[in-house]
Amino acid sequence: MPHVVTQSCCSDASCVYACPVNCIQPTPDDPAFATAEMLYVDPSTCVDCGACVSACPVDAIKPHAKLAEHELPFVKINADYHATRRPRPPLAPAVPPLQIRARGERLRVAVVGSGPAAMYTADEILTIPGARVSMFERLRVPYGLARHGVAPDHQRTRRVSRQFDQIREQAGLSLFLGVEVGRDVSHEELLRRHHAVVYAVGASSDKRLEIPGIDLPGTASATEFVAWYNGRPDQASRRFDLSHRRAVVIGNGNVALDVARILTIDPESLAQTDIALRALAELRKSNVEEVVVVARRGPGDSKFTLPELVGLSTRPGIELTVSPDDLAADRRDDPRLDVLRKLPQPAGRGRRITLKYNLAPTCVVGDLRVEATRFEHTKNGPPETIEAGLLMTSIGYRGRPVAGLPFDKKTATVPNDRGRIDPGTYVAGWIKRGPTGFIGTNKACARETVDALVEDFNSGRLTAPRTRATARVAQRRRQTMAEAA
Ligand code: NAP
Repeated sequence: MPHVVTQSCCSDASCVYACPVNCIQPTPDDPAFATAEMLYVDPSTCVDCGACVSACPVDAIKPHAKLAEHELPFVKINADYHATRRPRPPLAPAVPPLQIRARGERLRVAVVGSGPAAMYTADEILTIPGARVSMFERLRVPYGLARHGVAPDHQRTRRVSRQFDQIREQAGLSLFLGVEVGRDVSHEELLRRHHAVVYAVGASSDKRLEIPGIDLPGTASATEFVAWYNGRPDQASRRFDLSHRRAVVIGNGNVALDVARILTIDPESLAQTDIALRALAELRKSNVEEVVVVARRGPGDSKFTLPELVGLSTRPGIELTVSPDDLAADRRDDPRLDVLRKLPQPAGRGRRITLKYNLAPTCVVGDLRVEATRFEHTKNGPPETIEAGLLMTSIGYRGRPVAGLPFDKKTATVPNDRGRIDPGTYVAGWIKRGPTGFIGTNKACARETVDALVEDFNSGRLTAPRTRATARVAQRRRQTMAEAA
């Protein structure tokens, strides 16, 4: 029986390199890797050795026989991916080791941020003998969205932090928590003490929905709600009004599904997780019975991924519904539509998540607080008003400008060439490529940046850091020159 990749796949491709027969795809060198929703084991070539299981940082791979019932759909999801693709040669692609040209100096790099892109960047740099990384995190808790972005009921995904703990424990890494670059230490200071600075600061803001009424009490962004239930210190005192029966979420990416799920799940199932205790207490008192997730396009354009949809549709206690008219109007061949078409009729027993399509928000209605949201139909249907006392926008994260670095306002990223801004300053992760992909996607992204950095180091384009030793050498040189003059 072959092994199967399941919902919590983080796409870091550790399994790809561990597999002796190259049966896990797409591999990072495959153009399909950039857009893949997860990785897939080919059941016809898997030799069932289990090497991938040990390599996976989030315990996403299981032998077929050990799958729980709700994971069984992943057998077909893995097989379907390979059914439509040509087999690859039975050799796992090797990642060449980073080659440093010996120059009698040790590479020193400052990494700003401590989320997945920062941790993978440090991990790559620390493969170089003698290299050192100083990492600066503005919060007092490390790991960025891996800690404050993953939903608490996705405990397997959270296990990636065990891998980050191992990276953090490497001798060459010094992690400074509670230090904000630009406030506590300047870019120039970092550059003086390191060969290079890599900004892996993510996309710490969210896109704003510009419609009338959006600032009424009772509206919030999904990213704030996620940070709140995950106990991010700056959201600890936030209050979300859960006293109403219906909530509306605008946008239907994976974050929207996370938020809708946390609002409808039995709070007792979260009690054993590391959810913020204050959030758990509020969710226990919640009156929310229905969350309406509204998208401006059709079902085939849904932004949520198949693994997340399957996970939600098999979740006990939550009824997932979608209008048959919306589905009938979309005839595209998409496995997510197959899942939606097979949803059971709602029995009216549990809390409900309703998916709505082709509705674009036009305004938020309410005197003192949100009472309803108005939508126009994007396919010539009638406008709709959905009454709800809580409105969350989940329309994507957005990068913030970094002081002193160029910034593209349209993409909210720092313009770069394979991670390089100029020799000595680099970016990795969401501030480099925008807020897309999964935790492990940042591994290949970080490697690309480190390749550019090492290229610059090898060609002598990086200025040696002014450590105490180099400052002494410079002073001695000045003295010698003064004496000679
Ligand atoms: P996203 O996937 O980009 O989804 C954004 C949603 O907002 C889309 O439905 C988009 O609709 C909609 N939208 C954007 N602007 C809008 C507007 N002005 N009016 C109405 N709707 C608007 O963003 P996300 O959900 O924040 O996720 C970010 C990334 O994190 C994704 O790569 C996601 O997969 C990843 N993530 C993964 C997991 C997981 O694997 N479990 C969990 C959370 C996040 P259009 O498509 O029409 O533009």
